[in-house]
This record gives sequence, structure tokens and C-alpha cells, in this order.
Amino acid sequence: MKATDKGGFAAHQVNVKLLDYCLALAEQERPAFALCTQEGWLISTNSAWGSQPQTLVNLMCLMELQEAGFRHRSVETEHVIRNLLHDADDLRKLKQQSESAVILDQTRAQQALEDLVVQAIQLRASDIHLVFQPSVATLAFRVHGRLVSRVERGREVLAAAIAAALNTRSDDFHELFDEQRLSSASISLTVVHDDQPKQLRLRVQKSPTRSGFAVTMRLQYEQQTMLSLTELGMPVDMVDSLTAMIRSGHGLILIAGPTGQGKSTTLAAMNLVIPAAHKVISLEDPIEIIQPRIEQKPVLADHPDLNFANMVKVALREDPDVISISEIRDSATAKAAYTAALTGHLVSATVHAHDCLGVIQRLLDLGLSGAMLAQPGVLQGILAQRLEPIPCNSCRVTEAAEKSDITCTRCLGSGVTGRRWRGELLSLDDFLRAAIRNENLAECQRILVTRGWPSLASTKPLLASHQRSAEETSCV
Ligand SMILES: [Zn+2]
Repeated sequence: MKATDKGGFAAHQVNVKLLDYCLALAEQERPAFALCTQEGWLISTNSAWGSQPQTLVNLMCLMELQEAGFRHRSVETEHVIRNLLHDADDLRKLKQQSESAVILDQTRAQQALEDLVVQAIQLRASDIHLVFQPSVATLAFRVHGRLVSRVERGREVLAAAIAAALNTRSDDFHELFDEQRLSSASISLTVVHDDQPKQLRLRVQKSPTRSGFAVTMRLQYEQQTMLSLTELGMPVDMVDSLTAMIRSGHGLILIAGPTGQGKSTTLAAMNLVIPAAHKVISLEDPIEIIQPRIEQKPVLADHPDLNFANMVKVALREDPDVISISEIRDSATAKAAYTAALTGHLVSATVHAHDCLGVIQRLLDLGLSGAMLAQPGVLQGILAQRLEPIPCNSCRVTEAAEKSDITCTRCLGSGVTGRRWRGELLSLDDFLRAAIRNENLAECQRILVTRGWPSLASTKPLLASHQRSAEETSCV
């Protein structure tokens, strides 16, 4: 069959896998002009069959090893074969170039993301905030609870970084990047900081805004260290009381506080107190701190099956001593946690509430009755906590630090050098239980005030007192 035949190889694609071999044959001292097509054609010069039949048979064998195999052979002039070989080679080079250009862009975008994360680590930031507008992107970091280092950056590089991160690195993001879409994902990445590789996860939340989109990234360090209750900064008497509650091995212990106030860290610290012989199942959304001794299970709060309430029921069938729940935020979970505590397990959990009595109100709102909560041995204690900012002594007044153009080297402009634990611990007794049974929180409050119970409200927040003194000095 002739090469020019319309039904022949002319419409076929050159087999790229054997292209280098064919190019080499064409360039050797005694050239054997041949080429293979994707469709299984071997095309050679007539003379090649006369002078180098073994070479062509080898080529047929190589084709047989491939998917298309060897199907037909045909002859052509050396010029036609050489042109086809060179065209295929050029096309291949062009393809490789555009592919490497794409890879290069990806690399640049990922580098931009890593730079952003390293900057966040240097600032000891918990979150990276990005707001994309038509022409710029505003970048800020949350450091010790405050938004700092707000700057405007080039929109395109950062948008590419986010898109690249979501599209190529995410473990659970399975859609193409779309600015106007609400999406969340978690990304694992390793960055180098202080010559040390740091492994971390980014929890990315993206949502459309009026004139663009906003991205919030929470940093979760994989080697996040567990702190003991004492290391948290909890007063000794509180550590002792809480430890006694935990060691009793049953009942409900709840932790309250606003978001980002270290509740998960405290929950993990409580697990350290539990004797090694006890089986602890920790249900978390998401897993923030790796706890080697604990059976940590990821939970999806909004999932129909993998939600907290269902997972508590599953955990109860796995013979645990302790169940730790990262958050009780719905009625079903509250009831499941209560049932677990009622059946003789120790249950620790966080609840979104302002203070200890707020937790009781929240549980009542979630459908647990006063009688249920007053049941002896079930609700044992409630801890409410804050992480109070420690003002930077170098720039003294935090407000001034925010307005100043000169960045303080000690606090990097946040006005805060760290945070200090502060909290209240409520241990339930018969008097309080009687008031709870009647769902009378005002009575609980009265009892506590009479006792001189050290509540969060009665102990002075650090920053407020500092600001006052700063104002006083500035008046002089
Ligand atoms: Zn400072």
C-alpha cells in the first residue's frame, strides 16, 4: 500500500514513543529510514528492507510490545519519512515547552502560597485573611487574636496562589477554582522556616463578596505540641479541682469560651490527665492537635452520617472509658453526650458560651431539662476560659502600635506579645443542682456571688487595666 493512499498512514499520528529510535536510525552512518505510527503502521524505505532487514524486524518487535502493536507495513521515500519524523519531533518539543511553562506558573503560584504561610509563621499568626477586589488584594494576619500587618498586594499572584493551592494540593477540594463559588478545602503543605521543615495544614474557606471574593486560611501545625493544664497557665487550685473531676472517671465536663480562645488546647490538656489504661475516643472537626495516646476520629459536623451525634453513638459501641467531643452545637449531640455521661463514661466537650452559667443556659436551649442536668453524677463541672492578650511593653499602647507606621520589632506591630490564660471553674454541688433542677440560673448566680466564687467577670482583664494605665501616663 502506498503512503499517499488516503486510507493509509498519511492520516495517522507518528508514534512518539519510538520517535527517538527512528530519528537515530535516520541519522546513523547507513541510514534506515523508518517510522512507526500510533495505528500500527511501519513505514520504511524500500532500500532499508534490502540492507537492514534485522533493524526493521526489531522495530516491528518494539511495536508489538506497545498497545497498537504491528499491523501493516508500507514504503515511502526517505524525504517523506525524514520530514514526517522531523515534524513529529518539532511538535513534541513545542508541546513540552508549553507544558513546562504551565508547570513553571504552578511553581510560582505555589511559591507565593508558601511565602504567605512562612510570613504567617514568622508573625505567629493563626489565620491569613485575604480580600480580593477587582484590582488589588488586601492581606492581613490574625496574631494573638488581632488583625495586623494589613497591606495591599498584587491581586493576580495571590489569586493564582489560592487557585493553585485549591486545584492541586487540596485533599478534599474536587472542583475547578471559581472565584464566585463558595468553597472550603484543607491543604497539607511543608514549608521551610528557620531552616526547619514545618508540616502544616491550611483550612481554606473562600466565599464571594460584593466586588470579588474573600479567603480565610487557618494554620494548623501538624506537630502542634500538647500542653499540660499547668502549662496552659491555669492556676494550681483549678488544675487540682479539674484533675480530680477527670480522675473520677465519669460525668460531663464542659469547656466554654468564644472561638479562638484555646478550648481545643484545654480539651487536649485534659486528655493528658487521663490514666494510660483508659480508652479515650476523641471526636473532632477538624483534628487540630495530634494526640498520640488518643483514638482521634475526624467528624463532619454537617454530614448526615458522620456528624457528632451519630459518631458519639458509634463511639459508645467501641467500649470507651472517655469520649471527648470537640464541640456540642446541636440538640442531638447534646443529648448523645448526656446519654454517654449517664451511662458511666467520662465525657469532655466544648460548648460555645460566654461563661459557666451560659453553658447551662445553652444546654437548656438545646433541649436538656433542668432535671436531667441536676441528675447527680452527670454534669460534674464547667470551665469557661479566655486567652487575654499580653500587651507589648516595647510599644506600650496597643492603639498607638496599630496607627504607627514604624513596626515594633518585639510584637511585629500587633501590640501584643502573647496571650495569657484566664478562666472560671464551676464545680457542681447539691445547692447548685437544686437551682439547676428548677432551671433557675439567677439562683445559681446568687449562690455563687454569696460564696465569693471567682468568676471571669470578677477578675480584671489584663489589657483593660493596662490600657487604663497607659492613658493615665499619656495625660501627664
Ligand atoms: Zn510592640
